[in-house]
Parts: sequence; C-alpha cells; structure tokens
Amino acid sequence: MERCGECGFEYDLGGAPKAGAAIVEGASQWAVILSDDTTSLRHRPRPDTWSPLEYGCHVRDVLLVQRERVLAARRTDRPSFDPMGRDERVEHDGYAHQHPDAVARQLSDAAGMLANVLHRLDARDWARCVTYNYPQRLERSLRWVALHTVHEVRHHLADVRRQLAPGSHGS
Ligand SMILES: [Zn+2]
Repeated sequence: MERCGECGFEYDLGGAPKAGAAIVEGASQWAVILSDDTTSLRHRPRPDTWSPLEYGCHVRDVLLVQRERVLAARRTDRPSFDPMGRDERVEHDGYAHQHPDAVARQLSDAAGMLANVLHRLDARDWARCVTYNYPQRLERSLRWVALHTVHEVRHHLADVRRQLAPGSHGS
C-alpha cells in the first residue's frame, strides 16, 4: 500500500468512501488552529517554508481544485489535470494577507462542498480514472484522488502543528 514516508498516511483505496467525512473532520481541526489569530499563524519558520496561515490557504485551494477535478472526471473520460500552481497562488491570491477566520470558514465550506460531491459517487464512479500530473504523471482512480486529498489535509495539519509547537521557532 502506498504510504507517505513523512506523516505515515496510508492510501487504503478500499476506504475511499469515507474520505469525505475524513476531509470534513480534518477541516474542523484546521478551523481550531486558524481560530487562534496570533502572530505565530503568520510566522514563516524559514523564508522558504509557508506559515500556518499560508498552509491553511493552500489546503482550502486544494479542496476547491479537487472538487472540480472529481466533477470533471464524472463528465469526461480520463481528464488530464494541469498542476494547480501551488507556489504561484501564494502570491497571486495573497495568502499572507488573508484573515484566519475567513480562511477557516472557507476551508470548512470547501470541505463540505467536496464531501458532497464525493458522497454522490457510486461504485462505478469511484473506479473512474484521471491523469494526475503531480507528483508524477500517472493514471489514478477517483478512489486515489479522494485519499490523496485526505492526505493533503492531514499532512499539512501535522506540518503546522509542528510549527506551532512551543519551542519550535527557528528550528
Ligand atoms: Zn504525508
């Protein structure tokens, strides 16, 4: 089973139908983190590492993009997805200048919107394939796409929890 070497997330494809609920649950944990509007939310531990607020904006955008991808996979055979432009969005959408409570609300809404679309997939829909171009170009089922999205939510939660842990500054 595919597994993330950093956070330990496992791509249990059989569990994909529970992905929507897991994404909503992850979003509620993000909301707790973003509700504490202190300077540390806006602090980049290193110049090239995003702040917790920037990670929150990234996860929100991932949820919105993945929703469109799942919808595209239902109406088109094997759509191919351009990368979402994760790095460009930081500047183009001004991640560092957004309000944490607005981001928390948007992230929760995006999670609910994606979960709704996932909830409507039947067994055949889950097997529909897409060409996914990140991190490498591969054919993926919607099961994988859903689990990869859960992974994004949780992996970055772990990132920001590490950043916000007492004594982590400057590490
Ligand atoms: Zn991970």
